[in-house]
Amino acid sequence: MSLSLSTKSCSFCGEVIKAGEGRILVRNDGSMLYFCSSKCWKNMLILKRDARRLQWTKRYIKGGIKVRK
Ligand SMILES: [Zn+2]
Repeated sequence: MSLSLSTKSCSFCGEVIKAGEGRILVRNDGSMLYFCSSKCWKNMLILKRDARRLQWTKRYIKGGIKVRK
């Protein structure tokens, strides 16, 4: 696995992860998830939050997502 010199963006918040930082998760199907911090890791994997609903992520959608009731 080579991550040197390549920058990734966080799979959760969208922030760029510097080489050597962050966490990587390889799923059973081989897809990879990148996290800039334990905060993002926790939010996606444990809290299972939607990044589009969180204002501190780059993926946040202003006004939120419309959900049918
Ligand atoms: Zn992040």
